[in-house]
Amino acid sequence: APVGGPSGTSREPAPAHFAEHEVKALLREWGVAVPRGATATSPAEVAAAARGLAPPLVLKAHGPGLVHKSDAGAVRLGLSGPAEAESAAAEMLAGLLSQGIAPDGFLVEEQAPPGVELIIGVVRDPGFGPVLLAGLGGVWTEVMRDTALCLCPASEADARRMLASLRGAPLLHGHRGRPAVDSEALVGLLLAIGGSEGLWERLDLGEFELNPVIATEEGVVAVDARYLPG
Ligand code: ADP
Ligand code: MG
Repeated sequence: APVGGPSGTSREPAPAHFAEHEVKALLREWGVAVPRGATATSPAEVAAAARGLAPPLVLKAHGPGLVHKSDAGAVRLGLSGPAEAESAAAEMLAGLLSQGIAPDGFLVEEQAPPGVELIIGVVRDPGFGPVLLAGLGGVWTEVMRDTALCLCPASEADARRMLASLRGAPLLHGHRGRPAVDSEALVGLLLAIGGSEGLWERLDLGEFELNPVIATEEGVVAVDARYLPG
């Protein structure tokens, strides 16, 4: 269940904070692939949670004070198993506490194989309402501002047009001998998020960001997910 976020100055209810695993559970319900994972509230629990997962593992901390997790040292990749996950959790916790951040808990999950990283989301335009956003991740988003937009609900043709319009589109089609990514899975994901009866309809007035989605020739998996209530 959602937990309370940081409280405001007045007596109005605190904005809800949704932890990454809660958003991922909703995605899974919607047929969107997310890594297998489990939550824990202590390093020892992280080790126990890691036992059921196939390495390499990823460890993340979550809590209302953790928006950009990497910046705070709250993401560790490439962990070999339960023992390494447990010590990484202890280090992570100490590092966060030293910054004045008390996390609510940890998420330990399987590390998706590398591929092309994308950002997919729903943003709210004050005039037009919900808008589906898709773009290539990393520097393509931040430096190149390489994103495409479409009013919700997006059709299948819209989804294909959005992907084709990206300057980085050649990366999806197999660049420098790399295999092409599974474009059908990517179109399916865009429609699950922003298409007719897509997840956007369930989001009330909120915004939603999957960053990144990792696309490979095998399919697409959302490895980070944020929901910002409206
Ligand atoms: P944040 O965006 O809050 O810093 P992320 O959850 O996006 O944190 O993790 C940072 C980076 O780590 C991602 O951009 C991605 O490259 C990588 N990553 C995170 N989780 C996974 C995972 N399960 N599998 C593979 N890579 C991951
Ligand atoms: Mg992210």
